[in-house]
Amino acid sequence: MGDEEQPRPSSPWKWVIIGCLAVAVLGTCCVGGIAASGYFVYQQATATDPTVNEFLAKVKAGDRAGAYEAIDQEWKDVQTPEQFDRFIRMVDDIMGGLRSKTRQSWNVKALPGKLQAQIVYSGTFEKGEGVMTIVLFKKGEVWRVAGFTVNSHNFDNKGPCPNCGKTTFLGASFCYECGKPFKE
Ligand SMILES: [Zn+2]
Repeated sequence: MGDEEQPRPSSPWKWVIIGCLAVAVLGTCCVGGIAASGYFVYQQATATDPTVNEFLAKVKAGDRAGAYEAIDQEWKDVQTPEQFDRFIRMVDDIMGGLRSKTRQSWNVKALPGKLQAQIVYSGTFEKGEGVMTIVLFKKGEVWRVAGFTVNSHNFDNKGPCPNCGKTTFLGASFCYECGKPFKE
């Protein structure tokens, strides 16, 4: 009885070999994990395409009420339909209609209760080039647009409005403060 209960020295080689195996398996898991994660992110990013295209089509068609209707509630919480309408009209005036776009980069991450995707596109608009960043949320099964920004030199400061003195933008055809059109 006493013999069985005595601790036996374990072979150090066994532990070295198990240690190596653990490292090897861990290494493989990490590589596999990163690859799977990268694929997941790409898959989720491309899954936002229908939502993005629908949003941009409505913006281009001037259906700003329809575009507002489809955006995520969190965007609606911070922007009224009137503010959204004004924002989209401003972008449309400064950039003109979107002719084509190319996805440049994407990022998908899990947040409490939702997935968040951020997709960056280079876009060609009627009035020049711009970079669009579109943020989307997925709560449940549906992706919804939760943010939209356009960066372009067309948004550079053109100087004060001759009528009201407020700042105007390079691509703007009229003053967003007083509404007076700029002469060509
Ligand atoms: Zn003005």
